[in-house]
Amino acid sequence: MNNLSKNYINGEWVSWSGPTLDVHEAGTGDVIAKVPASGRDEMEQAIAAADAAFADWSESSLDQRIKVLEQLHAGLKERAGEIAETVCREVGMPIKLATGIQAGLPATITKTYLRMLPDFPFSEQCGNSEVQYAPVGVVGCITPWNYPLHQVILKIVPAIAAGCTVVLKPAEIAPQSAYILAEILDGTDLPKGVFNLVSGEGQTVGDTLIKHPAVRMVSFTGSTRTGGLIAHAAADDFKRIALEMGGKSASVILPDANLAAAVKGTVNNCLLNSGQTCTALTRMLVPADLHDEACELAAAAVARMTPGNPLEETTRLGPLASAQQRDKVIDYIKLGIEEGHTLVAGGPEAPEGCDKGYFVKATVFGNVKPGSRLEQEEIFGPVLCVIPYQDEADAIRIANGTQYGLSGAVWSADADRAKKVAGKLRTGQVFVNGGDFNPLAPFGGFGHSGIGREFGKWGLEEFLEVRSLQL
Ligand code: NAD
Repeated sequence: MNNLSKNYINGEWVSWSGPTLDVHEAGTGDVIAKVPASGRDEMEQAIAAADAAFADWSESSLDQRIKVLEQLHAGLKERAGEIAETVCREVGMPIKLATGIQAGLPATITKTYLRMLPDFPFSEQCGNSEVQYAPVGVVGCITPWNYPLHQVILKIVPAIAAGCTVVLKPAEIAPQSAYILAEILDGTDLPKGVFNLVSGEGQTVGDTLIKHPAVRMVSFTGSTRTGGLIAHAAADDFKRIALEMGGKSASVILPDANLAAAVKGTVNNCLLNSGQTCTALTRMLVPADLHDEACELAAAAVARMTPGNPLEETTRLGPLASAQQRDKVIDYIKLGIEEGHTLVAGGPEAPEGCDKGYFVKATVFGNVKPGSRLEQEEIFGPVLCVIPYQDEADAIRIANGTQYGLSGAVWSADADRAKKVAGKLRTGQVFVNGGDFNPLAPFGGFGHSGIGREFGKWGLEEFLEVRSLQL
């Protein structure tokens, strides 16, 4: 990639000679790239370009938008190997998983919108009114590092499809796949100014983006803390916001469930991307009399997940994405011990043979007390809390007992019972008996986990204003 030292503004790669941000390889800690720590001026130029491009793009034909997204889809497929390796190195997700998820999902999602767009009702009749769905305007997209391209695609594809123009500020820790995306878009028929990328820090360029009056919507994925800042900034200017934030999701294993299958499913989900997944099932709720057996099964499952070099095909658990994230997770493991929960597997020491890179042992705590910090706070690492419960009502109360509401799971031999309990969880999605992930279904959070939905038609509607013509 030749453009990592630049920003992409108004259809041009613009050189930057100011300070830079180091990008590290998660598995070694080495610096593998440098990207601009741009200033507010660069962000303002990008916003001006997006603003200027809006009038024409908002009137572009559906065929024009579809053609660009088809070109994007082809580019994502063509560069999939490079995307997978880039994200594997930056984030630490094992290459096999990164190929399917970090590189595969962006192409899949683009395809879902390509399939949906020809029939999407951009206007409809309501009595004597014609209801029109119009693009919201310039959209500021701010994204995190854990699924860095996937989270960008979930915003820019429906935004561009809706007729919006975009300024993207990717995450500092894993920005390179956004550059690959910009290079792909540069080779499409997208008019200049419709997509812009400015690399830099949240407090500077991110801050300019969320406060600029020409930006009519901010679509954000990241921490609940930053989401709160964005909600405050947006309130001053009545901007639309879509926020995808943190989680502390519960896997509720009912007494009649297949315990081994439920524990295995929960552990696999919890450890995906070394626990750096917003929807991770990090709290496993088990009937009190099955607690010890569940802990044994969980310990056996994590023992099979030895951390290793993420670039090797056989590795199942990689490092964390940054030194800061590793240190944060280790502090939480120490906190778990201090709070008096039972350390069942793992611990705060570095895993054997992993003296370089940002590795942490997969860790399981048992007898975790509801209301404790370990049980309430998002750790964003490979740490599972096993929580005993008394009865179904107790399980639902504990599951709903955090500020978050992003995801969840219910396991039971009785499908109707599982569905009934799932319907009582205050979360945006619930996996019932290991149901498959569906890229057409809405994704988002209740409470402090988010506002708005991504994926499918719900993801597109976020970028549309409603206008009714009385005829
Ligand atoms: P973060 O909030 O620190 O950073 C996210 C983005 O916000 C980055 O691009 C950052 O530069 C930017 N930012 C930071 N401060 C800003 C400011 N003052 N103004 C504007 N922009 C600012 O989050 P993170 O540590 O990168 O990501 C991890 C978090 O993301 C976790 O809490 C996780 O749960 C959440 N997440 C949520 C989802 C979801 O869909 N719900 C998906 C992935 C991650």
